[in-house]
Amino acid sequence: MARRKEKKGKKKSGRSWKLTLLLFLLLLLASAAVLFTMDGRHVQFRLVGSSEITVPYGEDFVDPGRSAVTVGRLFGTGVLVLPVETSGYVNTKVIGTYELTYTTEFLFDSYSAKRIVHVADLTPPTITLQTVNGYQPDWFTGYEEEGFLAWDNCDGDLTAQVEREVLEDRIEYRVSDSSGNEAVAERTLPAVAPPELTLLGEEYMVISASMEFEDPGVIAVDGKGNDLSDKVTVEGSVTPYKLGEYELTYSLSNGAETVSVTRTVVIERVELPAVVQPDEKTIYLTFDDGPGPYTGDLLDILANYDVKATFFVTGLNPEYEDMIGRAYREGHTIAVHTLSHNYYAIYASEQNYLDDFYAAQEIVYRQTGSYTRMFRFPGGSSNTVSNFNPGIISRLTVLMNNMGYQYFDWHIDSGDAVGTRTTAGVVANVTSGCTGRKISVVLQHDVKDYSVAAVEQIIIWGRQNGYTFRALELDSPTAHHRIAN
Ligand code: ZN
Repeated sequence: MARRKEKKGKKKSGRSWKLTLLLFLLLLLASAAVLFTMDGRHVQFRLVGSSEITVPYGEDFVDPGRSAVTVGRLFGTGVLVLPVETSGYVNTKVIGTYELTYTTEFLFDSYSAKRIVHVADLTPPTITLQTVNGYQPDWFTGYEEEGFLAWDNCDGDLTAQVEREVLEDRIEYRVSDSSGNEAVAERTLPAVAPPELTLLGEEYMVISASMEFEDPGVIAVDGKGNDLSDKVTVEGSVTPYKLGEYELTYSLSNGAETVSVTRTVVIERVELPAVVQPDEKTIYLTFDDGPGPYTGDLLDILANYDVKATFFVTGLNPEYEDMIGRAYREGHTIAVHTLSHNYYAIYASEQNYLDDFYAAQEIVYRQTGSYTRMFRFPGGSSNTVSNFNPGIISRLTVLMNNMGYQYFDWHIDSGDAVGTRTTAGVVANVTSGCTGRKISVVLQHDVKDYSVAAVEQIIIWGRQNGYTFRALELDSPTAHHRIAN
């Protein structure tokens, strides 16, 4: 028991010793704290650089540095460097604001400081202007964009966002990236002198009336040597079968400027030879509307009597077209009657008539190797079937004469088309018609067999009565009728 007590006493005295020591230490610490406090000692963060910094997008970020120290006054300026922990991160691949927190512990407290880091795109996009090798802008079209590219370090391809402004002497290209950095590029536009228009052919053209006029055109070359000829427009036109003076104005405009040049075209009459009246009593046998199935027979009869006649041909029976060639080779005159013999088509307009006429000319050319200047109007120049188009025959006679074509009518109608259906009737009409006349142009149709059959008797009668049979020529009597329309 006593031992226990002793022990207890011993224990009690040890404990009080420890307590004393603890109290002493506490006192010491308190004194130190008081001393430090009195010293004004505190923790100070030292950041290298500003507490708010901006880092370019995409660049590596290196913390510029920081430290934490304790500093005081009373016991000198000695510093105690404290370990610092950094929390937070900066991702320079993502634009934004980041916060770094620096923390240190001192005594019983925790101290921290912050740094704000802005990751920002500070680099403007780049605009690349492309050029096309050898390209020269032309005056008509103006500058045609050769191409451009816009690239941004952050946003990538910005080509589609480029704003392009065409000014008088240059083009400005602008683009901004998503951070508002703007790029500007500029392309200087070369000035292009307006084209010169150079007339091909004469400035004052005098040409013979014909069915076709081919405009020789102009050449247009701008100051950069670009050929703009196909951009030229022509004002005015030439009706090549109508006599007169025409003006053609060639113009080229690019919207802002117009250049032009003018040509005068004079359509002159193609002179026809004066009519020569034969001295002897003459009958001109003429056959319309062929060739046809009886033309061969007719040519046989004419050859038999060595009589030359005139054929006003059509394109109505193409299977007998070669009879035209035969007639021509046998010395007969080939002239145009019509291709279609369709009154309502050919007399509907001058152009219709000319189209038909020219097509018939092609048949003549095919069979004879040349065109003819001689023709006969379907229905004759006195026809009234064309009255649906008032004045058409009057106009056609003038324009055809202008072009050097001579039309022929007839004095004696054999009546084989209307009224007479017999050979005897045709013979009677022709012989009675020619009787008492010095010159007779006779109308027959070689597409009528009874009319062809009358030819031999007419020749015999004519020869017996002192007539000469001839083919019409360009200067032969024209037998013109009185024009009724
Ligand atoms: Zn006819």
